[in-house]
Amino acid sequence: MKLVFWLILAVAVVFVIRNKNKAAQKSAPRNAPPSPHAAAGEAMLCCAHCGIYVPESEALRNAIGAAYCSSEHRSRDGAV
Ligand SMILES: [Zn+2]
Repeated sequence: MKLVFWLILAVAVVFVIRNKNKAAQKSAPRNAPPSPHAAAGEAMLCCAHCGIYVPESEALRNAIGAAYCSSEHRSRDGAV
């Protein structure tokens, strides 16, 4: 009779653990959706001065539309 008690207890413990794991998987946050910039596949522009690539939203443009990584590089190229 003792054996049956322990067997039932073991099965109950396994059942509870399985349910907890399932609940944890369901409630676990899914991978965060990619940021709008990444999802949109934002264009990368090459700095006309140093050649580094910057996202289009962060690039600085000069009068003729050339892209720069910083105002410093934009003013340096403008001065030449
Ligand atoms: Zn630059």
